[in-house]
Amino acid sequence: MAGLLVIHDTDGHPEHKLRLERSEVPFICGGCKELGFGLRYQCPNMECDYILHHECGLGLGYGRPPTQKFFKKCDFQFHRQNPLPGTRICDICALDIRGFLYQCSRGDYDLHPHCASLPLTFTLPGSNEVIKLREKIESRCLKCQRKERASGRVQGLSYVSSDGMLCYHVACLKEACLDNWTMGYFQLDALANEERKILALQNLAPNQEVRIRAGQSANAMRGIRLLITFLKLVVSAILGEPFTLVSTLFQISQS
Ligand SMILES: [Zn+2]
Ligand SMILES: [Zn+2]
Ligand SMILES: [Zn+2]
Ligand SMILES: [Zn+2]
Ligand SMILES: [Zn+2]
Repeated sequence: MAGLLVIHDTDGHPEHKLRLERSEVPFICGGCKELGFGLRYQCPNMECDYILHHECGLGLGYGRPPTQKFFKKCDFQFHRQNPLPGTRICDICALDIRGFLYQCSRGDYDLHPHCASLPLTFTLPGSNEVIKLREKIESRCLKCQRKERASGRVQGLSYVSSDGMLCYHVACLKEACLDNWTMGYFQLDALANEERKILALQNLAPNQEVRIRAGQSANAMRGIRLLITFLKLVVSAILGEPFTLVSTLFQISQS
C-alpha cells in the first residue's frame, strides 16, 4: 500500500492538513478515540492537538482495510460513524466502537481501523517463537485469567504463543496498555525507573512472576524470560511499534 504523507480530514479537522509523523508520545486518536502510539497523522499546528492513527488516516484516504483473514467473505467499507442503529462492537478486540470504523456492507462485522491492521503472526528475531492471532485459545488469558473474554456473540481475537501456553485477548491487551499509559508506567526514557517497568509488566500479567531474582531455578528464570518476551511482542503488535522501541520500554535488567 502506497503511503500517504499528507491527508486532509475535511470533516474532522478542515482547518489544516495532517502530516505523517513518528513520535514516541502516546495519543488518543481523534478518529476512533482509541489509544495510539508511534506512526500517526498529526496537525503540524501544535495548538490543534488533532491526531489520527496511521490506519485511521489510511481509512479516510483509501476506504478499505487490509485483507482480512478472519472475515474473508466480508466487504468492509470505511465510515466516520456507525451508520446503523445501536452500539457496534469490534470483532477483533471485542470493545465498543466510538468513532471511525470499517463495517461489512451486510452489517454483520465491524472493525476498528487500527485493529484491522494488527499483525496476524510475528516472530522474535533469532528465536523459534511465533505468536499468532487466533479465534480460540487453549490457555487462560494472562490478564483476565479466563478463556472467554465476554458472554456475548463477539469474543474478539487473541494472541497465542507457539506452544499455546501464553494467551492474551486483544481486548485485555488494549485495556492493559491504556492502563499502563494512564498510570505513567510506559516511559520511553532509557533512564525510567526500573520499578515502574516491573509494575508495567506486572499490570500486563497480574498473576505471573515477572521479577528475576537470585536463587530462582534455571527453569523458572527461563519461564520468566519467555513471558517477558511474549509480553513485549504482543505490546509491540498492539501499539504498532517496532519491537526494539517497545523493548526499551521494558528494558529491565535481567541479572
Ligand atoms: Zn484511530
Ligand atoms: Zn490543525
Ligand atoms: Zn460481512
Ligand atoms: Zn478493535
Ligand atoms: Zn483476557
